[in-house]
Amino acid sequence: MELFGITEARTGLEGRYCDAKVDELIDGRRGVWKEELVKEVFTEDEAKIVCSLPISKSGLPDKQILGYTKDGLFSVKSAYHMEMCRKRREKGEKSEGSWFDWRKLWNLNVPGVVKVFLWKALNDCLPTRNNLKKRKVIEDAYCPICGTEEETVTHALWSCRGLLSLVAKEDLELVAVVMRGVWFRRNAFIFEKKFTGPGTVIEQATVSLENFQMAQTIRKEVRVRPEWGRKGCRWKAPVGDFIKVNWDAGMSVKDGRVGTGVVIRDGNGEVLRAMKLCAKLNFENVIFEGDALAVVKAINGERESWEWYGQLVEDMKGVLKNRKRWSVQHVFKEGNQVAHHLFKVSLSFIEEQIWMECCPPEVQKIVIQENLYTVNS
Ligand SMILES: [Zn+2]
Repeated sequence: MELFGITEARTGLEGRYCDAKVDELIDGRRGVWKEELVKEVFTEDEAKIVCSLPISKSGLPDKQILGYTKDGLFSVKSAYHMEMCRKRREKGEKSEGSWFDWRKLWNLNVPGVVKVFLWKALNDCLPTRNNLKKRKVIEDAYCPICGTEEETVTHALWSCRGLLSLVAKEDLELVAVVMRGVWFRRNAFIFEKKFTGPGTVIEQATVSLENFQMAQTIRKEVRVRPEWGRKGCRWKAPVGDFIKVNWDAGMSVKDGRVGTGVVIRDGNGEVLRAMKLCAKLNFENVIFEGDALAVVKAINGERESWEWYGQLVEDMKGVLKNRKRWSVQHVFKEGNQVAHHLFKVSLSFIEEQIWMECCPPEVQKIVIQENLYTVNS
């Protein structure tokens, strides 16, 4: 008999047990369960049930026993009962009189963590003060933010200071992400004494949902049109703890202006955020990547550069001498799209522009697109 039904039910069961058979859990000589092993494989509750099952002392062969019946034998009634249970499971708890249709939740176009969070919230599984009081962890269940009511899930995510009363009901996707944000805001307030304004929570949720949904759309486009431009040439995320700096520079002859575009990304293809950037300000492992072949060759070459940008090249060579883990490499235009677009955008600004955690909207799309390529490759 295989452990199949039980192992399936338990999350986090290690792969090495997946093909295990029940008799591996039994001490055949003594005819008893190997309790230590059972406790290792199953949760505490499951282990209790397993160890309470009687074992044949005379070594009878395995047999299948039908669940859902008292005598373990098949009957039409038992089959009907089984089918009804299956249907009820498919429908979710809706048949238990819950107001929420679970299928709607799983169909929302939001990240999985948000669905799980929402599921927990709807099942009253979040450690709200009210729930902690019920479990006798704390005595005072009042909301730590407004202090006017007991903190239930509904209060924390919905009615506390009427935070979400303005959100339209049909905007369920945004509501789901906002609720998760509100919960994290509450935790940051309690555990880190950080207070985030409700406006910021909604703003962050909107941006993250927009990015997520834009990525979904682009992912579909990428599937249809996997390559463009020079065959196989695209931006690739750096490996390990390297960061990659893509640059592009040029001149608008018409306006007589010079522009530069620089984008700094990590191994996940994320445009580096302010904090990460600070943490990495030491910049130990860096790849500089640009599509100006002549410049890249000049920087990596031995001979002195006599081009108009020669001074800059010599400067850069000097810096690189002291930075053994910095390198300058060439990539074709197709792999340098973000820097190229930033450079174009830069021509329209008089002063230097720096974007942290975000980009100009027209460039954001390319960042996501290049990330997808990296993920897909
Ligand atoms: Zn409150």
